[in-house]
Amino acid sequence: MILVQDKLMEQKELHIGMEDRGYQFGDGIYEVIRIYNGCFFGMDEHLTRLERSARELQMSLPYAKDLLKKRLEDLAAVNNVKDGQVYLQVTRGVAERTHHFPDHADGVLIAYTKEAPRPYQKMADGIGVITTEDIRWLRCDIKSLNLLGNVLSKQKAKDAGCDEAILIRDGIVTEGSSSNVFIVKEGELVTHPADNLILNGITRNVLFKIAEESQLNVVEKKFGMDDLLNADEVMITSTTMEITPVVTIDGKPVQDGKPGPITKRLQEKFNLRIHEVQSVEN
Ligand code: PMP
Repeated sequence: MILVQDKLMEQKELHIGMEDRGYQFGDGIYEVIRIYNGCFFGMDEHLTRLERSARELQMSLPYAKDLLKKRLEDLAAVNNVKDGQVYLQVTRGVAERTHHFPDHADGVLIAYTKEAPRPYQKMADGIGVITTEDIRWLRCDIKSLNLLGNVLSKQKAKDAGCDEAILIRDGIVTEGSSSNVFIVKEGELVTHPADNLILNGITRNVLFKIAEESQLNVVEKKFGMDDLLNADEVMITSTTMEITPVVTIDGKPVQDGKPGPITKRLQEKFNLRIHEVQSVEN
């Protein structure tokens, strides 16, 4: 089953209008929320970010957050999702094609779930990344459907046999094509500030909390390629990749090319947090 507006239905009943602005302009927003053992992780934070994205694009959501939360829970329950995720998007709706906003169009919300195991192997072994120029627009803080800059970067990573592309704008490391980037330097975690040049990741904020619990200092400041290449440890965070160590950058190892101790400690804390959420909800 899928969710369309506030109704659950079979996927074959879904009709997408040819002039849906999401389809023609990428005029819409989305979220991906993780489900662990049948429980949503960070649902409130994701829906708050969805509301913010909508506000920044002067879009209205078809209905309020509380009902949306309920409907997403119904969707996960009816599909019996154990370890997986929900993809949710809202477009500005169907209207005759002109660039400016239509006078009247109702936002179109769809959501669907899938089973997706946790990326245990990558979290344990670490991944290889490439670096590439950040060619995206200047509102990367909005989780919009316009993802071509991200798509092209990720493809470049894939072509190089890597899992992620780390994006560089004016010599500064912004984020990954679908993740946030952290480096460890002199016992501190450093990451790009949450301004218009990155998406303020939900997992990024979970990492802030668990770092604090571990008496690890997190500094939000800009850092360059040299800092990245000479870091003690490098990790990426995202809803689907959780906390994943980066062990090679452009083919060169990060230190000894193995996941570092601070990354491992944070991964353990993250695991505990997932279990806590489940014991609260069950
Ligand atoms: N940056 C970008 C560009 C992303 O696409 C994602 C994944 N949504 C993230 C960061 C990480 O965000 P989150 O932790 O909320 O998944």
